[in-house]
Amino acid sequence: MVECIAFDADGTLWNGETQFCEAQAQFRRLMQEYLNGSYEDRYLEETERRNIQHYGYGVKSFGLSMIETALELTEGRISPEHIRFLVNLTKEMLAAPVRVLPEVEAVLDELSGDYPLMVITKGDLLDQETRFLRSGLSEYFRSLEVVSAKDPFSYSRILRRHRIRPEVFLMVGNSLRSDIWPVLEIGGQAVYIPSPGAKNEVLPMDDPKLGQYARLEHIGQLPEWLEARLLAA
Ligand SMILES: [Mg+2]
Repeated sequence: MVECIAFDADGTLWNGETQFCEAQAQFRRLMQEYLNGSYEDRYLEETERRNIQHYGYGVKSFGLSMIETALELTEGRISPEHIRFLVNLTKEMLAAPVRVLPEVEAVLDELSGDYPLMVITKGDLLDQETRFLRSGLSEYFRSLEVVSAKDPFSYSRILRRHRIRPEVFLMVGNSLRSDIWPVLEIGGQAVYIPSPGAKNEVLPMDDPKLGQYARLEHIGQLPEWLEARLLAA
């Protein structure tokens, strides 16, 4: 039985990934100029990884990591104009329109009549709240939960606060590590929907929880899947 459905945001309801890829490409072009073509994307990715413990996830964290990487790789030679360019790039990312994924709105419209819906996302509070409001989807949700990490502890805390039993809680998301495994860990249910065109994080044969969650190709299949479960129960 499902009594409450929660959705991940980035890559599930809307697409934030493209924005990061575009910014990454601009940063790459800038660094190639300074480094005579010897720049590799992994330099920025390594800085981002190191910085998660300081800044968490999100656009602001990404912006600070670009500046730090640029300062390190150019050994301080990067010009103030180019630092300003990176600051502006970060602000543009924060102001960019939210690209809601296909069929999302119709699915939320249908499901919100039958279930309380919530969004559980990680990242920066202000950025995620703004995105949530600008998505035009906020009316379908009872609540928005922004957490710094998606681990079993954060999920348990949210469920306790909303007085939801884990066994009737369903999480829908595009990340096995963030949306699926921790929810199964605390006894909840999960539907994994890989985001279109994204590289998979793990191979199914490495997946310790394979068989414990459903996998759908598209969010449009969710209402039918829920219907079938209701009939089977
Ligand atoms: Mg996601």
